[in-house]
Amino acid sequence: MSGIAKLKKVELRTVAEEIGLVVNEGMKKSQLRRLIEDSDVFKNDNEAVKSAVEDVLENRNKKSDQDSEIEIERLKIERIKLELQLAQVKANECLVNFPGDSYDLHNSELYERELKDHQGEPVCLLVHNSEILLIINKCSSFTKLQRIIAWCMRFKENARNPLQRTTGNLTVPELSAALICLERSVKFVYFSKDIQCIMNGGKLSNSSKLLYLSPFLDEKNVLRVGGRLQHSELPLNHKHPMLIPNNCNICDLIIDHYHVFYLHTGVEATLANLRTQFWITNGRSTVKRVLHKCLKCLKAAILLKSRKIRNLSDRRTLKYKLVMLSCSKDYIRVRNP
Ligand SMILES: [Zn+2]
Repeated sequence: MSGIAKLKKVELRTVAEEIGLVVNEGMKKSQLRRLIEDSDVFKNDNEAVKSAVEDVLENRNKKSDQDSEIEIERLKIERIKLELQLAQVKANECLVNFPGDSYDLHNSELYERELKDHQGEPVCLLVHNSEILLIINKCSSFTKLQRIIAWCMRFKENARNPLQRTTGNLTVPELSAALICLERSVKFVYFSKDIQCIMNGGKLSNSSKLLYLSPFLDEKNVLRVGGRLQHSELPLNHKHPMLIPNNCNICDLIIDHYHVFYLHTGVEATLANLRTQFWITNGRSTVKRVLHKCLKCLKAAILLKSRKIRNLSDRRTLKYKLVMLSCSKDYIRVRNP
C-alpha cells in the first residue's frame, strides 16, 4: 500500500495500534512498517488498514493547518509590537538610542544649545564617541595593540567588501591606519576643546597645554605639533610629531616600546627617539615616571651600586709619567704661508 510508505514513525505506530497489533517500545520505522505489512489484518482486511492510514493522514493535515494558523497569529502579534514601538518612537522624536544605553536628548546640553530653537526642522547630528577604546587600557604592549586594531580594521573592510578580501600578513599602510585610529580614539577625549578651536579657526585658550605647540590637523585629521621646522626637509613625523596626551595608557605603552626597542635607554635618549614620531605633553616627567617602573633598569641600577671601587694595579700607577716629561725634544715645523 503506497499510503504506508509516506507515514512517519509515530503515524505508523498509530496505524499499527488501530488495527490491533502489539507494538514494542523502541521499534524502528522499518520494523513498524514490516510489522503492519506482515500482519494478518493487512493481508486479509486491507480496507481496515487503508481507513486507518487515511485517518492518520487527515489528522496530519489538520495539525499542519493548526500550525499555520498559530504561525499567522504569531506574525500578527509581532507586527502589532513593531507598530507600537514605531508609535513610541514617533511620540518621542528626539529619543536617541545608543547600543547598550539610552540617551534622552531633551535634557542634554546639546539640545539646549543647538536644537531647541529649530524644533520641527530636519537636523543632522554628527556624533563623536567620547570614550577611548577599552582595549587601550587592557593591552600591555604598543605593537600588540597596534596589530590588534589593524586586524580588526581588516576584518571590517573584508566584511564590507567580501569580493575583494585582503589576506596574508599585515602591511605597513594597515599598521599606519591602525595607529591613526588609536590616535583618533584618544585625541577626542583629551584634546576635544583644542580640536574644536582648531576646526573653528579660533585661538586656543590660555590654559591649554598645547598653546605653545601651534597644533594643527593634517589632511588625515591627525593632530600634530606645528613647531618651527616646516621648511626643513625632514620627514613629516620628525617635523610635526603626532600629539599624544600624557595621562592615558597609550602614552605609557609608547614610552615603554621606545625604551625597550632601543635597549633600555635613559630618559633623554628615550624622549629623543620617541619624538621622531610622537610628541607627548609634559614629555620629560612622563618618561621619567614610566622608566621608573622598568624592572630590568631597576635591577641593573642595584647591581651598579653594589660594586666597590678597587685600587689600580702597579703597572698603571708607579710607571705613570707625565707625557711632556718623557720627551726630550719637541719639534714643531711652521710652514710658510
Ligand atoms: Zn628599562
